[in-house]
Amino acid sequence: YRQHFFETKYIDPHKDLSIFVTNSKRLKAVIVILVRNSELEQLLPTLRQLEERWNKKYNYPYVYLNDVVFTSEFIEKTSAVTNAKTYHDIIPSEMWSYPSWIDQTKAARSRARMQNDHVPYGGLESYYHMCRFNSGFFFRHPLLKEYDYYWRVEPGVEFNCNIDYDPFAFIQKNNISYGFTISLKERANTIPTLWQNTKQFIKDHPQFISPRNSAKLISDNDMETYNLSEAYLKFFEYLDKAGGFFYERWGDAPIHSIAAALFLEKTNIHFFNDIAYKHRELQHCPPEQEIHESGKCQCDPKNNFGNKHLLSVD
Ligand code: GDP
Ligand code: MN
Repeated sequence: YRQHFFETKYIDPHKDLSIFVTNSKRLKAVIVILVRNSELEQLLPTLRQLEERWNKKYNYPYVYLNDVVFTSEFIEKTSAVTNAKTYHDIIPSEMWSYPSWIDQTKAARSRARMQNDHVPYGGLESYYHMCRFNSGFFFRHPLLKEYDYYWRVEPGVEFNCNIDYDPFAFIQKNNISYGFTISLKERANTIPTLWQNTKQFIKDHPQFISPRNSAKLISDNDMETYNLSEAYLKFFEYLDKAGGFFYERWGDAPIHSIAAALFLEKTNIHFFNDIAYKHRELQHCPPEQEIHESGKCQCDPKNNFGNKHLLSVD
């Protein structure tokens, strides 16, 4: 195995992926990490755990993105924890700055109000750019264009069960477009006008919504004039024009959730019950004894954040 990996380090990034996929289709998938240089120490244990619990068997590549250049220490240390290829790049400034139509004075006033109301990160300007980037741009970054599937990982998160299969292959086989481990209600005061904007978008673009069209939306072979990407980008552009990424504090999580609920069928969305995930106080640990044992889990389902998900496992 080792030698196999070693050899593939020096060939085309597509080719080393193909050796792990037995069917004829090549799986173009990547682990994406948006992160600051200052978060290196929180990130390294996350990477070691993800490698140990999963990726050392698959060697999916990593793409690291940052709004400023990565330090050489960051690049060296994040590359040393894996046999997989790693790529580091800066985000083009137009993906991390104010669009022309945004009134920056109004945005600053809104941040001050949010901070005053104790909205988490309400006064932190970079957080707004981060949410906008994660909502509408990460998949259009030059390093990510060639991939079909992304697994987003953050510094400090924990994966406390073994993942003994390839989730990318799983979602491809099952025609899944969106997977998650935790779902929670958004704070209402970060999104006062998100839903009314969504409803207006639905009115303007009813063709994107019909559940009967959803199966077609995800197929690019279809001779439809629109596809899922188009629906999503139109939705993002609509919301971006409405200004809520700066005048309110719209997070990327509610944007993705609403888009998934509107544009996909339930069967295209998957709750990864078997993947243990911990993000600060938010945790999902598989409660079933069988999964717990087979995954050698080191987490306690009693500490799960709620146990009610909007979408059930089936
Ligand atoms: P939370 O998950 O909403 O509490 O917010 P985080 O602070 O964890 O940020 C979410 C993700 O975006 C993490 O992967 C962070 O490392 C990343 N992130 C947030 N702000 C910035 C930033 O200003 N620059 C960079 N490069 N990454 C950021
Ligand atoms: Mn976080």
